[in-house]
Amino acid sequence: MIRVTAVQPDSIAEELGLRPGSELVAVDGRPLEDFLDWEFLTAEEQFLLHVRQPDGEEIEFDIERPLGEPFGVSLEPARIRRCANRCDFCFVDGLPDGLRDVLYIRDDDYRLSFRYGNFATLTNLKPKDVERIIEYRLSPLYVSVHATDPTVRRYLLRNPTAPEILPQLREFADHGIEFHTQIVMSPGVNDGAVLRQTLDELYAFGPAVLGCSVVPVGLTEFSKHHLVREPTQEECRAAVALVEERAAIALSERGSHWAFGADELYLRAGLELPPEAIYDGFDQVENGVGSIRWLQQRIRTHHEAIAGWEGRTIGVVTGTAMGRLMPMVLEPLAAITGARFELLPVVNSLFGASVTTAGLLPGTAVQDALRGRRDLDLALLPGESVNDNGLFIDGMSAELLAAAVPVEIRFSKDFADALAMGAAA
Ligand code: SF4
Repeated sequence: MIRVTAVQPDSIAEELGLRPGSELVAVDGRPLEDFLDWEFLTAEEQFLLHVRQPDGEEIEFDIERPLGEPFGVSLEPARIRRCANRCDFCFVDGLPDGLRDVLYIRDDDYRLSFRYGNFATLTNLKPKDVERIIEYRLSPLYVSVHATDPTVRRYLLRNPTAPEILPQLREFADHGIEFHTQIVMSPGVNDGAVLRQTLDELYAFGPAVLGCSVVPVGLTEFSKHHLVREPTQEECRAAVALVEERAAIALSERGSHWAFGADELYLRAGLELPPEAIYDGFDQVENGVGSIRWLQQRIRTHHEAIAGWEGRTIGVVTGTAMGRLMPMVLEPLAAITGARFELLPVVNSLFGASVTTAGLLPGTAVQDALRGRRDLDLALLPGESVNDNGLFIDGMSAELLAAAVPVEIRFSKDFADALAMGAAA
């Protein structure tokens, strides 16, 4: 059963008398569990919908609607699938006390992998989940492989019952499912020969594995430093060499680069980022793979829309990781817009200086960085630093921040989105 949270005006749902609190029980006799069932089972033009109204009345509707016409309901969010692993590098373990409860949930959910590109390990799949992935053809999935060697993978995941990943992927691939994969590289565990083996085996798996990224493990001050450490510059260089070796083979054999190092891997290796052309479709840009090149591309593409900021000074708030790379984006941005950009790399006051990603910046640290900055015409903030409800990781709201600082703030994912709205008054 899925509960309706809102009904759009003038929609089919409103016409049927559905309202917030109505329960969608079954479609064509098949019980509904979550948004996947709802979307896939109602994809046809005609279906029987069993509804339980808030007053307990049960109704069966014979629905006929033109393909593509939205039904008009918002559904309560699915209960997140909990993770079955206990990775030493788990981000959740690295969270300080006192944050929003939802942040302490270890999610490992194939449905969010399909829908939003969240990486999942597939270690918590039940037979019914496997059937759904195949029946609904949830492809591509984003899969955290880490190591193809089952012993190493189980060690990394701290899950002695984790199923072997290659046979698992094979079962799905035989039904047409494809995968974007990642390896979070933990030095001394899955780098070196293990990394080579994992890249080799994933590549040899065949075209169903669309690509593989290598991301250096990131820790916070609260992580289990006695069990896991961050890679050295030399270890990152060695990983880059393996990635590029595999990418060169893939390019000659398959015409795509297939293997990618995260921007952070190059940064820690002290190496220049690869050119834009190697990132194929930027499939893992949300995973920090090719982010800088992607931003440069977006700025170029939208150059006309973002012009007209001459004489303005724009602050760019970011985490310290991107702070080192951001000049590569801000220089062309200044040339196109005419504005002067000031980079404001913010140290993470919540997790410690070792957490450098913009997505985890607390609102209070951003507030401190913008305190008294009347000289700025606008401050751009990383779009990923707030959730869908406009909350920073420390629970501060974007509204509260906007009221607390003396400069207009805009959230941005690629600069073009915020600057194309025109100059600040
Ligand atoms: S898979 Fe590992 S890192 Fe991801 S949530 Fe589970 S324990 Fe944490």
